[in-house]
Amino acid sequence: MSFKNITVAGSGVLGYQIAFQTAFHGFNVTVYDINDEVLDKAKTKFDVLAAAFKRDLAATDGQLADTKTRLAYKSDLVEAVKDADLLIEAVPESPEIKIGFYEKLAKVAPEKTIFATNSSTLLPSQFAQSTGRPEKFLALHFANNIWINNTAEIMGHPGTDKEIFDDLVEFAKAIGMIALPLHKEQPGYILNSLLVPFLGAAINLLVTDVADVQTIDKTWMVATGAPVGPFAALDVVGITTAYNINKLAAEKTQDPLRLKALEYLKEHFIDKGKLGVSTGEGFYQYPNPAYKEKDFLK
Ligand code: NAD
Repeated sequence: MSFKNITVAGSGVLGYQIAFQTAFHGFNVTVYDINDEVLDKAKTKFDVLAAAFKRDLAATDGQLADTKTRLAYKSDLVEAVKDADLLIEAVPESPEIKIGFYEKLAKVAPEKTIFATNSSTLLPSQFAQSTGRPEKFLALHFANNIWINNTAEIMGHPGTDKEIFDDLVEFAKAIGMIALPLHKEQPGYILNSLLVPFLGAAINLLVTDVADVQTIDKTWMVATGAPVGPFAALDVVGITTAYNINKLAAEKTQDPLRLKALEYLKEHFIDKGKLGVSTGEGFYQYPNPAYKEKDFLK
């Protein structure tokens, strides 16, 4: 792996975190977005992330100043990719937007540039042809709050070159990630293939009135030693995301249990603005949720 120059396309929630994390670990990073106003907004996030890196990773002022010097911002795609060894795409989760972006990119990126998508729910094979270089294209999937939740799931499509896949595993490690290679394409990667059914099972137990929120979480915590149960995890993920995932599945299958779960989440949470940790209330109330009380597991 001999990458030096990395371009991150999309400076939103995840794109900017990826750019910052990559620059922090010594790579030259160009942040690309649709216009200069959006990029100006991205620049304001520098201080917020720098404070988080100080708090959580004991990053020094010197390291953070160096990080800043390694970040450049460009709204001209030709300029943004002209030296890129790797482009990490974090544009919105819409097949139309991603395809449009790859078609434009394919025309202007140097031949050497590898493309990696951070898409959470779409598969690399959906875009491989639009990239014009399917063998140099794969998924590199990060989690929100990348500097502490440092998973990097690496997933190729059937046409991805094996050496390029291995290079991406090395790159992920070089930017402080725990590299998690997948052998084949899988919707939801590893993490969401485990998490989505797990959280869905907890909601089903609740809406069919098998047990209450705290008893379900307590069962999981005591039996497995996990620090949180499924409902505490749902509050972190955000109930809107859980609702949207259920909605897609319910509409597709018309499964009565899924429809019931959907109605339950809408009535008790979405309509009341109780969306989880971000709004101060979901299945628990924050900042002091009941599951953190010392007698919760008794
Ligand atoms: P976001 O909406 O916060 O940011 C998207 C950015 O892309 C915006 O800055 C927008 O201006 C820019 N953009 C829009 N059209 C563009 C184009 N044609 N070219 C370049 N930039 C364009 O989205 P996000 O939450 O950062 O998600 C981005 C990707 O990361 C998605 O594929 C998503 O599935 C994935 N992801 C998100 C999370 C998360 O927790 N938010 C976690 C893992 C992966």
